[in-house]
Amino acid sequence: MSVTVQPARSLKAIQGMLNDGSLTCKELVQTYLSNIEEQKELNVFVEVYEQEALERAENLDQKAVADRGRLFGAVFSLKDVISYKGHALTAGSKILQGYEALYSATAVERLLAEAAIIIGRVNCDEFAMGSDNRTSYYGATHNGVDKTRVPGGSSGGSAVAVQMNLCLMSLGSDTGGSVRQPASFCGVVGFKPSYGRISRHGLIAYGSSFDQIGVIGNELEDVELVYQVMQGPDEFDGTLVSQVEESKKVASTGVRFAFIEEALDHPGLQSEIKDAFYGAKELLGEADHQVLPVSFNLFDYVIPAYYVLTSAEASSNLSRYDGIRYGFRSQNVSSLNEMYTHTRTEGFGAEVKRRILLGSFVLSVGYYDAYFAKAQKVRRLIKDQFEEWFTSYDAILIPTAPTTAWSLGDQISPVEMYLADIYSVLANLVGLPAVSVPLGTDSDGLPFGIQLLSARFEESALLKMAEEVKSVLQS
Ligand code: GLN
Repeated sequence: MSVTVQPARSLKAIQGMLNDGSLTCKELVQTYLSNIEEQKELNVFVEVYEQEALERAENLDQKAVADRGRLFGAVFSLKDVISYKGHALTAGSKILQGYEALYSATAVERLLAEAAIIIGRVNCDEFAMGSDNRTSYYGATHNGVDKTRVPGGSSGGSAVAVQMNLCLMSLGSDTGGSVRQPASFCGVVGFKPSYGRISRHGLIAYGSSFDQIGVIGNELEDVELVYQVMQGPDEFDGTLVSQVEESKKVASTGVRFAFIEEALDHPGLQSEIKDAFYGAKELLGEADHQVLPVSFNLFDYVIPAYYVLTSAEASSNLSRYDGIRYGFRSQNVSSLNEMYTHTRTEGFGAEVKRRILLGSFVLSVGYYDAYFAKAQKVRRLIKDQFEEWFTSYDAILIPTAPTTAWSLGDQISPVEMYLADIYSVLANLVGLPAVSVPLGTDSDGLPFGIQLLSARFEESALLKMAEEVKSVLQS
């Protein structure tokens, strides 16, 4: 297979070519397959659905223009935590070895109903726990900008798949930044909707009150379309809101942005990111938007609250992997109890075990009030603070991550890794929609993003504001 023309990076451009007959879905898939083959050493795909994607493309090519779905020509990869019926699913873990999804996630069903093509399953941190893809049972994915660097995580495979044009878009999951932070590290767009917007049916659970499916793509317009296709009530997820009207306000002129002073004064923030952030603030001001500082006295409690609560939820969610029902089972046993213990000892990696232990600890009788209940109260206070801000501001601007991608060989302690999530976990603690758009590159040429957060269920306004920020930055 030889690649002549690289697929366009926007759905509009691809659909234009498909509609005027200068491209077929089959040719499109062939080119992505050849890109995947060429970039194999980046370790992006856990599995490629080569034959199946080609067959689906051929079938779609037969459709008359009028019968084409909204996602006609959109080729997706799925993070290895999202169910696709009849396909293996392992959450980047040994413990799910041999497991095959019995049904498709609602989000996936909705993509397929609009003619999307799914080209494969991509690498991620084990059970989506991590910030650099290094906890995956399949080994780390490499960042395409610099192969010695991490791609971010946990949806690292999704971000590199889009970055290197191995597919047009990718579905990831975002519990504390897993869609936005790798998007920042890879120079692409990452969007996480409000909690309660997209069905979690078919998404492997990590922290159920935080998890949302999100989208990684090149263009905000594409990401919005995919979001529109996936969102909305689903009988399989009781936490979804029945359709909430979004405000009709088109927030692209005179936007009131706030930035959190403590976030910009954070000692861990890389100076080039800080400078670029203030540069963006100036440009937005010149374009007649407001960018005003707000103060946040709970900033130091954000990471502890997030890690106490998500570990607690994870310890409960992961209790189902016991060797009886799913995937891997240790053979090296002589009793039922030994079977549980050996299966979980051999099946889970170190980071997942750490979270299970931490979560079980904070939920234990003697410590529940001191840790879990306290963290829930902090979560509530953070939520109240954001709600107050959104009475005066349209969006919060904040860096997506404090640094650019670190080296694959760097030794980083778990606590250092957790602290690096400082800007991204806020949206999940409060249940807000958030998007990361590329802001610049550092002196090593490594990309970084800027993040916008809006009030809950204001996704369309948020994406419009992001479009405005992008155009101001480019002008
Ligand atoms: N890095 C964060 C964590 O490890 C976020 C992960 C995620 O969003 N899935 O919990």
